[in-house]
Amino acid sequence: MLMKPEEQFRQILHRVSAIPVIDTHEHMVGPQFNVPINEPITALTLDYLQNDLISTGAEDNVIHMLQDPGVSTEVKWPIFEPLWKEVEFTANARITKLIMQDFFEEEVMSLGALNRIAEKMPLIHDEESYWQVLDDAGIQMIISDPLGRPQCDFGDYLRGDLTFPDRFRIMVSLPLFHVVAHHPQSARDWEGMQQIGAWANKHITSLDEFLESVFVVISKAKERGAIGIKDQSAYNRSIEYEIVPRNEAEKIFNRLLADPRTVLGWPEAKPLDDYLFHHYMRFARELELPVQIHTGHIARNYNNVDRANAMLFRGVLELHQEVQFDLFHGNWPYIDDMLFLLKNYPNVAMNCCWLYTIDPIFAEQMLTRAVLTAPNSKIHGFGGDYGNRIYGDSPAYSVSHLKLARLVISKALTELVQMDWIDEDSAVSMAADWLFNNPNNFFNLGLKPITADRSN
Ligand SMILES: [Zn+2]
Repeated sequence: MLMKPEEQFRQILHRVSAIPVIDTHEHMVGPQFNVPINEPITALTLDYLQNDLISTGAEDNVIHMLQDPGVSTEVKWPIFEPLWKEVEFTANARITKLIMQDFFEEEVMSLGALNRIAEKMPLIHDEESYWQVLDDAGIQMIISDPLGRPQCDFGDYLRGDLTFPDRFRIMVSLPLFHVVAHHPQSARDWEGMQQIGAWANKHITSLDEFLESVFVVISKAKERGAIGIKDQSAYNRSIEYEIVPRNEAEKIFNRLLADPRTVLGWPEAKPLDDYLFHHYMRFARELELPVQIHTGHIARNYNNVDRANAMLFRGVLELHQEVQFDLFHGNWPYIDDMLFLLKNYPNVAMNCCWLYTIDPIFAEQMLTRAVLTAPNSKIHGFGGDYGNRIYGDSPAYSVSHLKLARLVISKALTELVQMDWIDEDSAVSMAADWLFNNPNNFFNLGLKPITADRSN
């Protein structure tokens, strides 16, 4: 039956909106760490919207003031209003608008709206509503990367003193094991290195002992339930990992042994970091842990996206053929490079986490083109990628992001149906694979596969 595009879109969106979801990437720590926020501007400008505000020229002190719930809305408003006007049509601001609409029934940002919102705050105030929000959005499982966050000590997790809700599946956070800066407790100095040794009950006196310790630690994390490894070192280094002779790497490592005051860093420690990374990929192979890699867009302002292009990671993909890689963020803005890797490498999946709030039109094009270029089983449709270092989890942000994702996915699929490439039932079942079945298989989650409802 021929339908007008709008009618078809509405029908597909309706069906796609009913699909349960595995959220493939968050930094959620669990409701026990939530700090209620009682001031609406703070609550509505968490995380990525701040990057857009900084991009308009907002200085650090302004961002700190907006993020301080102790400063009143009245004081913030004259500073916030002109900034909001500059960013209000970005996809990040769309998330804020969706939260205003869906949680507070407010359509337009104004001081009056904020004051009314303040009366209904905090946004998520107890454990019950936290889960209710996720249930209402159809999020059945969350793959989270919380270890190393201020609330979540890796050692506590290994000892079993820190546990996560049943709905979570945890990734091992690899930045801790890098020797270039990212995490304050990373292995770039004596303390960080010996900390890793201590988790494996070993005092480290050589590169071999360090590597053995990392293997023990990742194995223990797996025993605790971790389902994969996640790395976002693109924030601090290029993701091109060269194959480095051992002696070159060991010389750098030995500087830490020779003088415990040494701090390694980028770019001097690159050969050692490259060497270690390839070992970590061997550990992933041995422990059968899939690996999530940050590629593309970098959250903090003033960084360099060139060195996060997934194409730089090609050598790793080609060498470590027995490791499954989940490449993040659609490699924004490098759409063609992502499609090439997805099409050519059997060990590559594409993860659209964070992507719909970075650039929804890019996401739509990426999905449309991916259907025509790569196997359908390799697309992971959604990850919210939220989690605030101070206030904890933001389920309202994640579910609003999911709403935007369902819209974009439906647009991409409608386009394919309209061009007579696929029929509507195949399109909706493809969305069910992207949002649920593919991540369920890829991460061996063992959930019951879902079948999308048929139109008739
Ligand atoms: Zn993330």
